[in-house]
Amino acid sequence: MENEENLQIENTLSTEAKKKITLKGMTIEELKNYFTSKGMQKFRAEQFFYWMYNHLTTTVDEMSNIPKTIRNEVREEIELQTLNYFHTEQSESTKTKKYIFVTNDGNKIETVIIPEETRTTLCVSTQVGCPLDCQFCATGLMGYKRNLTSGEIFDQFMLAAKDFGKEKITNIVYMGMGEPLLNYYNTVKSLRIFSHEITKGISYKKITVSTAGIAPKIRELADSGLNVKIAFSLHSCFEEMRTKLMPINQKYTLKENLMALRYYAKKTATRITFEYVMLKNLNDTDKDIEALSKICKEIPSKINVIPFNSVSHMNPTGFSAQLESTSKEKIEEFVAKLRDKNITVMIRQTQGDDIAAACGQLANRLS
Ligand code: SF4
Repeated sequence: MENEENLQIENTLSTEAKKKITLKGMTIEELKNYFTSKGMQKFRAEQFFYWMYNHLTTTVDEMSNIPKTIRNEVREEIELQTLNYFHTEQSESTKTKKYIFVTNDGNKIETVIIPEETRTTLCVSTQVGCPLDCQFCATGLMGYKRNLTSGEIFDQFMLAAKDFGKEKITNIVYMGMGEPLLNYYNTVKSLRIFSHEITKGISYKKITVSTAGIAPKIRELADSGLNVKIAFSLHSCFEEMRTKLMPINQKYTLKENLMALRYYAKKTATRITFEYVMLKNLNDTDKDIEALSKICKEIPSKINVIPFNSVSHMNPTGFSAQLESTSKEKIEEFVAKLRDKNITVMIRQTQGDDIAAACGQLANRLS
Protein backbone atom coordinates (compact mmCIF):
# COMPACT_ATOMS: atom_id res chain seq x y z
CA MET A 1 0.00 0.00 0.00
CA GLU A 2 2.82 2.37 0.89
CA ASN A 3 4.48 1.76 -2.47
CA GLU A 4 1.20 2.40 -4.25
CA GLU A 5 0.87 5.71 -2.42
CA ASN A 6 4.43 6.71 -3.29
CA LEU A 7 3.72 5.81 -6.89
CA GLN A 8 0.61 7.96 -6.79
CA ILE A 9 2.52 10.95 -5.45
CA GLU A 10 5.02 10.42 -8.25
CA ASN A 11 2.20 10.20 -10.78
CA THR A 12 0.63 13.42 -9.64
CA LEU A 13 3.68 15.33 -10.72
CA SER A 14 3.50 16.19 -14.39
CA THR A 15 6.56 15.23 -16.39
CA GLU A 16 6.44 18.52 -18.23
CA ALA A 17 6.93 20.56 -15.08
CA LYS A 18 7.83 18.21 -12.24
CA LYS A 19 6.81 20.69 -9.56
CA LYS A 20 3.19 21.11 -10.63
CA ILE A 21 0.67 19.38 -8.43
CA THR A 22 -2.15 17.64 -10.25
CA LEU A 23 -5.32 18.30 -8.29
CA LYS A 24 -7.41 16.40 -10.82
CA GLY A 25 -7.85 12.92 -9.41
CA MET A 26 -7.60 13.96 -5.76
CA THR A 27 -10.37 12.90 -3.43
CA ILE A 28 -12.06 15.40 -1.11
CA GLU A 29 -9.79 14.32 1.75
CA GLU A 30 -6.67 14.84 -0.35
CA LEU A 31 -7.88 18.27 -1.46
CA LYS A 32 -8.51 19.20 2.18
CA ASN A 33 -4.92 18.20 3.00
CA TYR A 34 -3.64 20.30 0.11
CA PHE A 35 -5.54 23.45 1.10
CA THR A 36 -4.84 23.17 4.82
CA SER A 37 -1.13 22.63 4.08
CA LYS A 38 -1.25 26.03 2.39
CA GLY A 39 -2.94 27.61 5.39
CA MET A 40 -6.29 27.84 3.58
CA GLN A 41 -9.71 26.81 4.83
CA LYS A 42 -10.92 23.26 4.37
CA PHE A 43 -14.09 24.23 2.55
CA ARG A 44 -11.99 25.35 -0.43
CA ALA A 45 -11.58 21.62 -1.09
CA GLU A 46 -15.30 21.23 -1.65
CA GLN A 47 -15.36 24.22 -3.94
CA PHE A 48 -12.52 22.87 -6.06
CA PHE A 49 -14.11 19.42 -6.02
CA TYR A 50 -17.32 20.92 -7.40
CA TRP A 51 -15.59 22.91 -10.14
CA MET A 52 -13.37 20.07 -11.28
CA TYR A 53 -15.75 17.15 -11.14
CA ASN A 54 -19.22 18.60 -11.49
CA HIS A 55 -18.64 21.66 -13.61
CA LEU A 56 -15.75 20.02 -15.50
CA THR A 57 -13.66 23.18 -15.20
CA THR A 58 -10.03 23.11 -16.27
CA THR A 59 -8.79 26.59 -15.26
CA VAL A 60 -8.93 28.40 -11.94
CA ASP A 61 -10.18 31.54 -13.70
CA GLU A 62 -13.58 29.94 -14.20
CA MET A 63 -13.98 29.28 -10.45
CA SER A 64 -16.06 32.37 -9.84
CA ASN A 65 -16.79 31.85 -6.13
CA ILE A 66 -13.12 31.48 -5.19
CA PRO A 67 -11.38 34.77 -4.29
CA LYS A 68 -8.85 36.08 -6.79
CA THR A 69 -6.10 36.06 -4.17
CA ILE A 70 -6.49 32.29 -3.76
CA ARG A 71 -6.74 31.69 -7.48
CA ASN A 72 -3.54 33.68 -8.03
CA GLU A 73 -1.75 31.82 -5.27
CA VAL A 74 -2.46 28.35 -6.64
CA ARG A 75 -2.60 29.05 -10.39
CA GLU A 76 1.09 28.49 -11.12
CA GLU A 77 1.57 25.40 -8.99
CA ILE A 78 -1.43 23.27 -9.91
CA GLU A 79 -2.60 21.36 -12.92
CA LEU A 80 -6.28 20.70 -13.54
CA GLN A 81 -6.25 18.75 -16.77
CA THR A 82 -4.41 15.50 -17.46
CA LEU A 83 -5.54 14.60 -21.00
CA ASN A 84 -6.22 16.27 -24.32
CA TYR A 85 -8.12 15.26 -27.44
CA PHE A 86 -6.00 13.60 -30.10
CA HIS A 87 -8.50 11.99 -32.45
CA THR A 88 -12.13 10.86 -32.60
CA GLU A 89 -13.96 8.40 -34.84
CA GLN A 90 -17.64 7.57 -34.95
CA SER A 91 -19.23 4.40 -36.27
CA GLU A 92 -21.69 5.12 -39.05
CA SER A 93 -23.83 2.13 -38.18
CA THR A 94 -24.09 2.26 -34.37
CA LYS A 95 -22.96 5.82 -33.51
CA THR A 96 -20.42 4.33 -31.13
CA LYS A 97 -17.72 6.95 -30.73
CA LYS A 98 -14.07 6.27 -30.02
CA TYR A 99 -11.78 8.92 -28.57
CA ILE A 100 -8.02 8.80 -28.58
CA PHE A 101 -6.69 11.04 -25.82
CA VAL A 102 -3.10 12.01 -25.21
CA THR A 103 -1.69 12.19 -21.67
CA ASN A 104 0.53 15.06 -20.53
CA ASP A 105 3.56 12.78 -20.98
CA GLY A 106 2.62 11.89 -24.56
CA ASN A 107 0.91 8.48 -24.22
CA LYS A 108 -2.23 7.73 -26.17
CA ILE A 109 -5.22 5.99 -24.62
CA GLU A 110 -8.65 5.10 -25.91
CA THR A 111 -12.13 5.68 -24.54
CA VAL A 112 -15.41 4.65 -26.13
CA ILE A 113 -18.99 5.92 -25.84
CA ILE A 114 -21.68 3.43 -26.69
CA PRO A 115 -25.15 4.94 -27.16
CA GLU A 116 -28.04 2.48 -26.87
CA GLU A 117 -31.79 2.88 -26.71
CA THR A 118 -32.12 3.00 -22.95
CA ARG A 119 -28.66 4.06 -21.82
CA THR A 120 -25.32 5.50 -22.93
CA THR A 121 -22.23 3.80 -21.62
CA LEU A 122 -18.75 5.25 -21.30
CA CYS A 123 -15.95 2.67 -21.47
CA VAL A 124 -12.78 3.94 -19.76
CA SER A 125 -9.17 2.75 -19.80
CA THR A 126 -7.11 2.26 -16.65
CA GLN A 127 -3.65 1.60 -18.06
CA VAL A 128 -1.57 2.60 -21.09
CA GLY A 129 -1.62 -0.78 -22.83
CA CYS A 130 -1.98 -3.87 -20.68
CA PRO A 131 0.51 -6.35 -19.19
CA LEU A 132 -1.82 -9.35 -19.37
CA ASP A 133 -1.46 -10.65 -22.90
CA CYS A 134 -4.93 -12.15 -23.33
CA GLN A 135 -4.68 -13.84 -26.72
CA PHE A 136 -7.95 -12.47 -28.12
CA CYS A 137 -7.26 -8.85 -27.19
CA ALA A 138 -5.57 -6.14 -29.26
CA THR A 139 -4.61 -4.14 -26.16
CA GLY A 140 -2.76 -7.15 -24.76
CA LEU A 141 -0.85 -7.46 -28.01
CA MET A 142 0.38 -3.85 -27.82
CA GLY A 143 2.21 -4.35 -24.49
CA TYR A 144 2.16 -2.27 -21.31
CA LYS A 145 3.55 1.19 -20.51
CA ARG A 146 2.11 2.42 -17.21
CA ASN A 147 -0.89 2.81 -14.93
CA LEU A 148 -3.20 5.76 -15.47
CA THR A 149 -3.69 8.14 -12.55
CA SER A 150 -7.13 8.67 -11.04
CA GLY A 151 -7.14 12.10 -12.74
CA GLU A 152 -6.50 10.51 -16.12
CA ILE A 153 -9.31 8.04 -15.54
CA PHE A 154 -11.67 10.91 -14.61
CA ASP A 155 -10.58 13.12 -17.52
CA GLN A 156 -11.68 10.47 -20.02
CA PHE A 157 -15.17 11.12 -18.64
CA MET A 158 -14.61 14.88 -18.66
CA LEU A 159 -13.49 15.14 -22.29
CA ALA A 160 -16.03 12.63 -23.59
CA ALA A 161 -18.80 14.38 -21.61
CA LYS A 162 -17.83 17.81 -22.96
CA ASP A 163 -18.08 16.48 -26.48
CA PHE A 164 -21.01 14.10 -26.16
CA GLY A 165 -23.06 15.68 -23.38
CA LYS A 166 -22.52 14.94 -19.69
CA GLU A 167 -26.19 14.33 -19.00
CA LYS A 168 -26.34 11.66 -21.70
CA ILE A 169 -23.78 9.38 -20.04
CA THR A 170 -25.69 7.00 -17.75
CA ASN A 171 -23.27 4.13 -17.18
CA ILE A 172 -19.52 3.65 -16.86
CA VAL A 173 -17.64 0.45 -17.55
CA TYR A 174 -13.98 -0.06 -16.71
CA MET A 175 -13.39 -2.22 -19.76
CA GLY A 176 -11.08 -0.15 -21.95
CA MET A 177 -7.32 -0.60 -22.12
CA GLY A 178 -5.75 -2.28 -19.11
CA GLU A 179 -6.64 -4.43 -16.12
CA PRO A 180 -8.35 -2.14 -13.55
CA LEU A 181 -7.49 -4.36 -10.59
CA LEU A 182 -3.78 -4.14 -11.40
CA ASN A 183 -4.23 -0.39 -10.96
CA TYR A 184 -6.38 -0.83 -7.89
CA TYR A 185 -5.42 2.36 -6.06
CA ASN A 186 -6.32 4.71 -8.92
CA THR A 187 -9.34 2.68 -9.96
CA VAL A 188 -10.84 2.93 -6.47
CA LYS A 189 -10.07 6.64 -6.19
CA SER A 190 -11.76 7.34 -9.50
CA LEU A 191 -14.79 5.27 -8.43
CA ARG A 192 -15.10 7.37 -5.29
CA ILE A 193 -14.97 10.57 -7.38
CA PHE A 194 -17.50 9.39 -9.97
CA SER A 195 -20.02 8.44 -7.35
CA HIS A 196 -19.56 11.40 -4.97
CA GLU A 197 -22.71 13.45 -4.40
CA ILE A 198 -20.97 16.69 -5.40
CA THR A 199 -19.94 15.16 -8.71
CA LYS A 200 -23.59 14.20 -9.15
CA GLY A 201 -22.03 11.22 -10.73
CA ILE A 202 -23.13 7.85 -11.52
CA SER A 203 -24.26 5.47 -8.80
CA TYR A 204 -22.23 2.35 -8.11
CA LYS A 205 -25.08 0.28 -9.47
CA LYS A 206 -24.37 1.79 -12.88
CA ILE A 207 -20.63 1.23 -12.80
CA THR A 208 -19.02 -2.05 -13.82
CA VAL A 209 -15.41 -2.98 -13.24
CA SER A 210 -14.15 -5.64 -15.57
CA THR A 211 -11.35 -7.99 -14.58
CA ALA A 212 -9.36 -10.80 -16.11
CA GLY A 213 -9.18 -12.29 -12.62
CA ILE A 214 -6.92 -10.83 -9.91
CA ALA A 215 -8.46 -12.87 -7.10
CA PRO A 216 -6.98 -11.05 -4.05
CA LYS A 217 -8.08 -7.68 -5.45
CA ILE A 218 -11.60 -8.97 -6.10
CA ARG A 219 -11.79 -9.75 -2.38
CA GLU A 220 -10.32 -6.36 -1.47
CA LEU A 221 -12.90 -4.62 -3.67
CA ALA A 222 -15.64 -6.63 -1.99
CA ASP A 223 -14.45 -5.34 1.39
CA SER A 224 -14.07 -1.72 0.18
CA GLY A 225 -17.76 -0.86 0.48
CA LEU A 226 -17.92 0.21 -3.16
CA ASN A 227 -20.76 -1.92 -4.39
CA VAL A 228 -19.88 -1.72 -8.06
CA LYS A 229 -20.73 -4.50 -10.43
CA ILE A 230 -18.03 -6.90 -11.54
CA ALA A 231 -17.65 -8.35 -15.01
CA PHE A 232 -15.32 -11.33 -14.98
CA SER A 233 -13.60 -12.36 -18.20
CA LEU A 234 -14.27 -16.08 -18.02
CA HIS A 235 -13.88 -17.28 -21.63
CA SER A 236 -13.29 -20.90 -20.63
CA CYS A 237 -14.39 -22.98 -17.65
CA PHE A 238 -11.33 -25.19 -17.93
CA GLU A 239 -8.01 -24.22 -16.35
CA GLU A 240 -5.86 -25.45 -19.23
CA MET A 241 -7.75 -23.68 -22.00
CA ARG A 242 -8.19 -20.55 -19.92
CA THR A 243 -4.42 -20.42 -19.33
CA LYS A 244 -3.85 -20.69 -23.07
CA LEU A 245 -6.24 -17.83 -23.72
CA MET A 246 -5.31 -15.77 -20.66
CA PRO A 247 -1.82 -16.45 -19.26
CA ILE A 248 -2.73 -14.64 -15.98
CA ASN A 249 -4.74 -17.78 -15.17
CA GLN A 250 -1.46 -19.45 -14.23
CA LYS A 251 -0.94 -16.99 -11.39
CA TYR A 252 -4.55 -16.61 -10.26
CA THR A 253 -6.34 -19.79 -11.23
CA LEU A 254 -9.96 -20.02 -12.23
CA LYS A 255 -10.69 -21.94 -9.06
CA GLU A 256 -9.22 -19.17 -6.90
CA ASN A 257 -11.10 -16.50 -8.87
CA LEU A 258 -14.42 -18.30 -8.63
CA MET A 259 -14.02 -18.47 -4.86
CA ALA A 260 -13.29 -14.73 -4.78
CA LEU A 261 -16.29 -14.00 -7.02
CA ARG A 262 -18.59 -16.06 -4.82
CA TYR A 263 -17.34 -13.97 -1.88
CA TYR A 264 -17.90 -10.75 -3.86
CA ALA A 265 -21.45 -11.66 -4.87
CA LYS A 266 -22.33 -12.55 -1.29
CA LYS A 267 -20.70 -9.53 0.34
CA THR A 268 -22.10 -6.94 -2.08
CA ALA A 269 -25.38 -8.68 -2.93
CA THR A 270 -24.68 -8.19 -6.63
CA ARG A 271 -24.73 -10.56 -9.57
CA ILE A 272 -21.49 -11.29 -11.36
CA THR A 273 -21.40 -10.90 -15.13
CA PHE A 274 -19.37 -13.59 -16.86
CA GLU A 275 -17.89 -12.35 -20.14
CA TYR A 276 -17.55 -15.15 -22.64
CA VAL A 277 -15.98 -14.49 -26.04
CA MET A 278 -17.04 -17.18 -28.51
CA LEU A 279 -14.07 -18.95 -30.08
CA LYS A 280 -14.58 -21.62 -32.69
CA ASN A 281 -13.85 -25.14 -31.40
CA LEU A 282 -12.12 -23.78 -28.28
CA ASN A 283 -14.95 -22.93 -25.89
CA ASP A 284 -18.20 -23.51 -27.79
CA THR A 285 -18.92 -27.23 -27.26
CA ASP A 286 -21.55 -29.09 -25.21
CA LYS A 287 -18.87 -29.77 -22.60
CA ASP A 288 -18.45 -25.99 -22.21
CA ILE A 289 -22.21 -25.54 -21.82
CA GLU A 290 -22.27 -28.09 -19.00
CA ALA A 291 -19.36 -26.45 -17.20
CA LEU A 292 -20.80 -22.94 -17.64
CA SER A 293 -24.18 -23.88 -16.25
CA LYS A 294 -22.54 -25.53 -13.24
CA ILE A 295 -20.63 -22.32 -12.44
CA CYS A 296 -23.72 -20.15 -12.92
CA LYS A 297 -25.70 -22.29 -10.54
CA GLU A 298 -23.05 -21.87 -7.86
CA ILE A 299 -22.60 -18.08 -8.20
CA PRO A 300 -25.39 -15.48 -8.66
CA SER A 301 -24.58 -14.41 -12.19
CA LYS A 302 -25.45 -13.89 -15.81
CA ILE A 303 -23.45 -14.52 -18.96
CA ASN A 304 -22.55 -12.02 -21.66
CA VAL A 305 -21.74 -13.95 -24.81
CA ILE A 306 -19.53 -11.91 -27.13
CA PRO A 307 -18.82 -12.73 -30.78
CA PHE A 308 -15.02 -12.63 -31.22
CA ASN A 309 -13.86 -9.37 -32.81
CA SER A 310 -10.92 -9.74 -35.13
CA VAL A 311 -7.58 -8.41 -33.92
CA SER A 312 -6.05 -8.75 -37.39
CA HIS A 313 -5.20 -5.01 -37.34
CA MET A 314 -2.49 -5.98 -34.81
CA ASN A 315 -0.92 -8.62 -37.10
CA PRO A 316 -1.00 -11.31 -34.41
CA THR A 317 1.22 -14.40 -34.50
CA GLY A 318 1.12 -17.84 -32.81
CA PHE A 319 -2.02 -18.96 -30.95
CA SER A 320 -3.60 -15.52 -31.24
CA ALA A 321 -3.43 -15.67 -35.06
CA GLN A 322 -5.40 -18.94 -35.06
CA LEU A 323 -8.44 -17.60 -33.22
CA GLU A 324 -11.73 -17.47 -35.10
CA SER A 325 -15.21 -16.53 -33.99
CA THR A 326 -17.88 -19.18 -33.58
CA SER A 327 -20.47 -18.76 -36.35
CA LYS A 328 -23.62 -16.72 -35.69
CA GLU A 329 -25.83 -19.84 -35.93
CA LYS A 330 -23.66 -21.80 -33.53
CA ILE A 331 -23.64 -18.90 -31.04
CA GLU A 332 -27.44 -18.83 -31.12
CA GLU A 333 -27.59 -22.58 -30.54
CA PHE A 334 -25.07 -22.30 -27.67
CA VAL A 335 -27.14 -19.56 -26.03
CA ALA A 336 -30.41 -21.46 -26.49
CA LYS A 337 -28.96 -24.55 -24.79
CA LEU A 338 -27.83 -22.44 -21.83
CA ARG A 339 -31.25 -20.78 -21.58
CA ASP A 340 -32.83 -24.23 -21.55
CA LYS A 341 -30.87 -24.77 -18.34
CA ASN A 342 -32.39 -21.57 -16.89
CA ILE A 343 -29.18 -19.59 -17.20
CA THR A 344 -29.51 -15.85 -17.93
CA VAL A 345 -27.57 -15.16 -21.10
CA MET A 346 -27.26 -12.04 -23.24
CA ILE A 347 -25.56 -11.84 -26.61
CA ARG A 348 -23.57 -8.64 -26.64
CA GLN A 349 -24.09 -6.97 -29.98
CA THR A 350 -20.83 -5.92 -31.55
CA GLN A 351 -20.58 -2.13 -31.30
CA GLY A 352 -18.06 -0.15 -33.30
CA ASP A 353 -16.00 -2.89 -34.93
CA ASP A 354 -15.83 -0.72 -38.07
CA ILE A 355 -13.68 1.78 -36.12
CA ALA A 356 -11.78 -0.83 -34.03
CA ALA A 357 -13.67 0.29 -30.92
CA ALA A 358 -15.33 -3.02 -30.17
CA CYS A 359 -14.49 -5.17 -27.18
CA GLY A 360 -10.85 -6.30 -27.27
CA GLN A 361 -9.90 -4.10 -30.22
CA LEU A 362 -8.55 -1.00 -28.50
CA ALA A 363 -4.91 -0.55 -29.38
CA ASN A 364 -4.07 2.84 -30.84
CA ARG A 365 -4.50 1.86 -34.47
CA LEU A 366 -3.48 5.39 -35.41
CA SER A 367 -0.32 5.73 -33.37
S1 SF4 B 1 -8.69 -8.43 -22.19
FE1 SF4 B 1 -8.37 -6.83 -20.68
S2 SF4 B 1 -6.90 -7.77 -19.25
FE2 SF4 B 1 -6.81 -9.00 -21.12
S3 SF4 B 1 -5.12 -8.08 -22.32
FE3 SF4 B 1 -7.06 -7.09 -22.95
S4 SF4 B 1 -7.16 -5.24 -21.74
FE4 SF4 B 1 -5.71 -6.61 -20.74
